[in-house]
Amino acid sequence: MSSEEIKCPTCDNLIGYSYDIDGVMFLDCGGLIVRELKSNCKQCGREFFWVVPNIRLERLIKRVLKNRKQFFGDTPRN
Ligand SMILES: [Zn+2]
Repeated sequence: MSSEEIKCPTCDNLIGYSYDIDGVMFLDCGGLIVRELKSNCKQCGREFFWVVPNIRLERLIKRVLKNRKQFFGDTPRN
């Protein structure tokens, strides 16, 4: 799994980080793993879209957490 900084193309504001999980790119943004996002850059107002195919996100994340406990910088509680 690799992660990459996602920045606003207009003003370079750091929006979040992308994670490649099983070939699917998720956005890690403010404590959430985002599958669908329609929002605006809070620095310049540019529209920002992020869409991930409809898959079983929860199961996928749990599987990743099992293998990589550092994924969210924390360990799962169960
Ligand atoms: Zn911006």
